[in-house]
Amino acid sequence: MLKCEERMNADVIIINISQLVTLANNSKPRYGKEMEESAIITDAGIAIKGGNIIEINDSKAIGNKYLTSELIDAEGKIATPGFVDCHTHPVFVHTREDEFAMRLQGKSYVEIAKAGGGILSTIQTTRNADEDLLFELAKKRILKMMQLGTTTLEAKSGYGLNTPSELKQLRVIKRLQEELPIDIVPTFLGAHEFPEEYRNNHSGYVELLCKEMIPAVAEQGIAEFCDIFTEAHTFNIEESRQILTCAGEHGLKLKMHCDEIEPIGGAELAAELKCISADHLGSASETGIKALKKAGVIPVLLPATLFSLQSKTYANARLMMDLGLPVAIATDFNPGSCNCDSMQFTMSLACLQMGLTPSSALCAATLNSAYALDRGNQIGSLEAGKKADIVLWDIPGINFIPYHLGSSYVERVLKCGKTIYKAT
Ligand SMILES: [Zn+2]
Repeated sequence: MLKCEERMNADVIIINISQLVTLANNSKPRYGKEMEESAIITDAGIAIKGGNIIEINDSKAIGNKYLTSELIDAEGKIATPGFVDCHTHPVFVHTREDEFAMRLQGKSYVEIAKAGGGILSTIQTTRNADEDLLFELAKKRILKMMQLGTTTLEAKSGYGLNTPSELKQLRVIKRLQEELPIDIVPTFLGAHEFPEEYRNNHSGYVELLCKEMIPAVAEQGIAEFCDIFTEAHTFNIEESRQILTCAGEHGLKLKMHCDEIEPIGGAELAAELKCISADHLGSASETGIKALKKAGVIPVLLPATLFSLQSKTYANARLMMDLGLPVAIATDFNPGSCNCDSMQFTMSLACLQMGLTPSSALCAATLNSAYALDRGNQIGSLEAGKKADIVLWDIPGINFIPYHLGSSYVERVLKCGKTIYKAT
């Protein structure tokens, strides 16, 4: 034992961690097969100062070296990095469970829309809602995600589809970032769908996006990313290229929803424009996947959406991993196609439906998803210099996370070293 004056100060130390999953990989995402190796340290301890991890070592060494005002005895629990949910749509008013019931009865998209459902109904209520209501509803949803182990969340606009309503959603996201204890990354998704008033005037809406909405978003500094929904029935390749190029020129980083239903060349465009991530990719072509690899674009797969839509097919994660891509996963939480707030359940689906192993699914939900938000140097793994975003689990090993379906075995969640959730 070091004498008191020889010991160093830490704000928090955690000792007696039976298995600590670091996922550290020399400041890189984990590519393909590397995702299988979790880098586990047994009987570990963590020292935290100023919100960051300052040392990971064996439990005794940490306990002896540091003086601290907050000592957490993990009592044999398992530690992993906090989840990074890099694709969500949490700012909306009403949930759409009645539409879910109609879909189960075989009602078509048109019948659902006629009964007042579909994305256009979300747009209508979001446009009419006041900011405080949107904030309170989103806050409630995000606090649930936090209890399930999410410590960083990306949140998109995209239910306003006009300048004032998109800015309103982004202001709500900014306030969520300021008032909630987890990090929330803002993404502008004005190109989510064509609004009703531009249904027959696509070029008019592209012009509104490029001449008014994107400049306003950039001027207010209220979004970090610009995203788009590129599919046969929404924004085509040429429109997508135009909108994303404009967003890039305004200093926004780029993401795409692409090749979810049909392989129309979305992945190839994501590669051409050097997007940070290309998301969905349920039907991406092999050429598209190879283009993503070459351009260093992170593929973000959203298995809970396909599961909710009762899809028979999923994104070809195995091929992506065989080709050496750093696959990431996210919930795609939204009111229509996927009301899933759990990265744990998303990991289960990644294993059961897309052939990932538990270790690779954990990597996809933490380290690689941090890279999908361009934050790989700050979060996603447990190592000195990174934020102390840590989940303590009351489980026998990490395979248990996707193996178990339903409830959560999260014992404690720390964000920047502060306990933000503790199971009772
Ligand atoms: Zn989405």
